[in-house]
Amino acid sequence: MFIPTDPCQYCGDQQVEAPWTLCQNCRRTYAKTLHNLRRNMQLLQRVARHEYKLGEPGSGGKPQGGEAPSPVNMHAIDLLDEAESLLQDAWCDAGAVWSDRWQLLIPRMQTRLAWLCKATNAGRFLRQLIKMNRRIEPYVDRKPRTRRIIGVCPECKREILAAKGESLLLCKCGNPINVAELRERTAEAVNRYHKTLTPTGCSEWLRDDYGLDVPAMTVKNWLRRGKLPSAKPIADDGYYEFDIRETVAMAMSVSKRQ
Ligand SMILES: [Zn+2]
Ligand SMILES: [Zn+2]
Repeated sequence: MFIPTDPCQYCGDQQVEAPWTLCQNCRRTYAKTLHNLRRNMQLLQRVARHEYKLGEPGSGGKPQGGEAPSPVNMHAIDLLDEAESLLQDAWCDAGAVWSDRWQLLIPRMQTRLAWLCKATNAGRFLRQLIKMNRRIEPYVDRKPRTRRIIGVCPECKREILAAKGESLLLCKCGNPINVAELRERTAEAVNRYHKTLTPTGCSEWLRDDYGLDVPAMTVKNWLRRGKLPSAKPIADDGYYEFDIRETVAMAMSVSKRQ
């Protein structure tokens, strides 16, 4: 018996038998995409809701008179709406005649995955759903990438880690963290206790601010020998972050001996 085949609409590598429009591998990708999208949208919704509550406690989720909700919050809501329309379009393309809110729609799509993988434009929708997932991810992602501590949560004081390009995070306590804002706040606090200087700059600073005579060479030796355990090199440009207390104490002990 002859069964007509076509290339898979998504990968184009595999031949698929009608009525499938996606190959077996891409069907698995579709399932994974729906699974991830659901989780990410749930997280994004928490972000959106929490910001509402923070803005105006107890007024039923609507912004206060005239006061616009934060841009981050609005963006989360827009993104959820956009993702929902996309899901509804994909569902419609699969031949469904009715639709629902995304919270109910995604589980239904998951149990009817075969419909989606036989849909006329399955490849295009899978591509768009994957793209949508990528757009939501930075707002809700907790995967360990290269992350650095950027400060502590203002609500619960947990350490917050952020990767490059992340603009909004959800703390474990549920508090949405504006990354840029927290970075700035932390930098301010750090500057009270640290100074970013070259060894020469450090020597000058100790002389000018404390009247302590420490040659730049001595500072370099301290760094090399680990006498300033809190000092950290900043990139490779010769600058270090000096702990003020530690550095001054070290300088005082040295100048006493002189
Ligand atoms: Zn495929
Ligand atoms: Zn927190």
